[in-house]
Amino acid sequence: MKWIRRLFFKSPVITGLVVFLLSFGTGLYLTLKEYQLELIEEKENVENIAELIEDRIAKIISSANSAVNILAYLVRTDRLDQNFREVGRSIIDNIDIIDQIQVLDSGEIVATYPLVGNEMVIGYDILKDPYRREEAIMAIEQRELYFAGPFELKQGGKGIVGRLPLYKNGVFEGFTAIIIDWYKFQDQVLFGYQPNSEYTIDILKIDPINKDISSLLNSNFSQSGGPITELVIPSGNWIIKVQLDNSNAFISIIPNTLFRLISSILLGFLIFKLAEQPYRLSKQVEETTKELLLSNQRFELATKATSEIIWDWDMEKDYTYRSENFERLLGYSQEESFNNDKFWKSIIHPEDYNEVESNLKKALDSSAEKWSQEFRVKKSDGQYLFIVDKGLIIRNKKGKAIRMIGSTQDITARKKAETDLADQRQRLTNVIEGTGAGTWEWNVQTGETQYNETWANIIGYTLEELAPLSIQTWINFAHPEDLEQSNQELEKCFRGETESYESECRMKHKDGRWVWVLDRGKVFSWTKDGKPLMMFGTHVDITEKKLREEEIKRTNLQLQSANEELKSFASVASHDMKEPLRMISSFLQLLEKKYENVLDEKGIQYIRFAVDGSKRLSQLIDDMMEYAQIGFDPSKLSKVDLNSVVEEVIQLKQKVIEENNAIVEVSPLPDILGIRSPIKSVFINLISNALKYQKKNVQPVVKIYSTKEGSDYRITVEDNGIGIDKEYYQKIFNIFKRLHTKDEYPGTGIGLAICKKVVSQHGGKIWLDSEPGKGSTFHFLLRAYDDQTY
Ligand code: ADP
Repeated sequence: MKWIRRLFFKSPVITGLVVFLLSFGTGLYLTLKEYQLELIEEKENVENIAELIEDRIAKIISSANSAVNILAYLVRTDRLDQNFREVGRSIIDNIDIIDQIQVLDSGEIVATYPLVGNEMVIGYDILKDPYRREEAIMAIEQRELYFAGPFELKQGGKGIVGRLPLYKNGVFEGFTAIIIDWYKFQDQVLFGYQPNSEYTIDILKIDPINKDISSLLNSNFSQSGGPITELVIPSGNWIIKVQLDNSNAFISIIPNTLFRLISSILLGFLIFKLAEQPYRLSKQVEETTKELLLSNQRFELATKATSEIIWDWDMEKDYTYRSENFERLLGYSQEESFNNDKFWKSIIHPEDYNEVESNLKKALDSSAEKWSQEFRVKKSDGQYLFIVDKGLIIRNKKGKAIRMIGSTQDITARKKAETDLADQRQRLTNVIEGTGAGTWEWNVQTGETQYNETWANIIGYTLEELAPLSIQTWINFAHPEDLEQSNQELEKCFRGETESYESECRMKHKDGRWVWVLDRGKVFSWTKDGKPLMMFGTHVDITEKKLREEEIKRTNLQLQSANEELKSFASVASHDMKEPLRMISSFLQLLEKKYENVLDEKGIQYIRFAVDGSKRLSQLIDDMMEYAQIGFDPSKLSKVDLNSVVEEVIQLKQKVIEENNAIVEVSPLPDILGIRSPIKSVFINLISNALKYQKKNVQPVVKIYSTKEGSDYRITVEDNGIGIDKEYYQKIFNIFKRLHTKDEYPGTGIGLAICKKVVSQHGGKIWLDSEPGKGSTFHFLLRAYDDQTY
């Protein structure tokens, strides 16, 4: 029983279906029975009709029997001859169906009534007629009334003939017979059952000889029609056949079947609904329970997943539920916080307490739905946490706050980040202020622009004075010419041609003068379709620098023209000075030649001194000219192959090298970036000095080599000569500085000054190491030639 109930409640659909099937099954069974009954009833009706017809025939046969027996009786008692006509009339008058009576002697018709119209049958022998004979013999054999026909009568018309064989002493003598009109017979027998009634009726005849059955009424029986019945009437070898044309048995059960189907469906549905109610209820209970469990579980998991404290404060009981995080975050146990109100008040930071208290009271006393507050609370270890408390206020019908549910979030890190950010901002502001830079933040798309106070101060205003601020503020104060230049630079930056924007512009100061600013900026964000959005930049007042630059430019120009003047002065001076010098020298030589014999030794020596002096003066003028004319044009910088330079210099000094039997060792030298001719002068001077400042009777050895130093090459010229005392390391590079007399070592004291000037102009430096008596090593730096750059 239990399982049925369980099934009933568990599966209402199946229950409904089972009920439907049971009900419909029963209904179908009943319908089948009804159908069978209907068929039986129809069969009975058909049989009844056949029996009715049989009855009617039986009555006719019985009447005919009476008639032929009366006749037979009269024949046997030999009284028929006298009374035949009266008897015949009487029979025909009383028995309506009989049309004619006959008496046959053996097979010959000897008497007939009525005679009129039937005369031709008298003398006719039926036993000799092959068509009549068989049935006549049947009657003889049966010894009782037997109907022959229907057939065409001799006297005309169609009829059936009932014959009773007569015997005398067991020997056949003849017949008494009656004739019934076939159509009359039909009318009487089938009365009430016309051809178009719902039944089809036929009378069949069994052929006495071959037993063939033929239809007498030619009725059509249908194969698919209703029930059929047949009754045999032996007295005429007839069969009565009746059929119900159309059986209504099936149609008649359709409404009932439909009714049962519908009621079964309704019943099944009803049961389904009935079963569903508790099922639904139990399902609902099950689902609600599941949801409840789920939501409980969700709540528990959520409280675990979140780092926040979830709390539920029952104000009436002054009890607060707090999730596990409470202990984790603040370090207090649930017991410690038992005395809720007091506990809570004790941990709020004294500085925040009043604000928290008043805001909470305000929220609870108003109709507010929510309350939120940021404040500090003390942890169990005494440290303070910054928290944000957010709660949902639940009120009773009167609007009084009775409960609040919410969460507590630790925002210490955020607060610290905020403070740090504020500090950073302040520091950044300080730095910016320290640099004296004005700042601007420009939304390129909307034109909104923010400036700092310094920006306004640079042009003598306060920000307030310039309000309302926009990009137009800048446009209004910028010099129109510079603005155009600035816009071009901006466009380049927007197109991505430059990474940042930079422009020097003049701005109108409050007092009417122009202030130079260095305007720099960068696009920091772009719109989705690639347009510049936010651009940040600075303004630096460069008026002073600009003035200084102009000053320097002016000075440079002055210097340049002075230099040019000096160069042309030196050239003119050297030319003009050398001309009289050459004259002095040649006249002195002429003097010596012409008066050689006149002059004493001393005189000749003086003249030689004078010639020598003038030669040296000439050399001095040349060297000075070279020094004065050393110029530096950066556009002439190019690759210089030092190997070829040194080779040329050695060629130049070949004579001296050979005279001194000197060895010059040159290691492979690099390509440097420089101007060939002055570089060559450096080598000439250094190699000349190395060969010149030598010890007597020592073979001079000069080594030239290079080493890489970063992007420079250090070139070294080393000798094994007399060396230089340390105190002269700097001084010897000064012009005219010599450490020896012209007699010891000739020279003008300009060579090293030229070297220093050339190397400096190339951006390098020159210095030396030396050990007096052992030799000197001169070094200088030149920039390496870099294929990538040049
Ligand atoms: P000059 O050789 O014409 O005197 P320089 O300017 O070339 O003038 O040299 C300055 C002085 O430095 C020289 O007079 C000499 O005393 C000293 N000096 C230059 N090169 C050497 C050297 N290689 N060895 C020793 N002394 C040198």
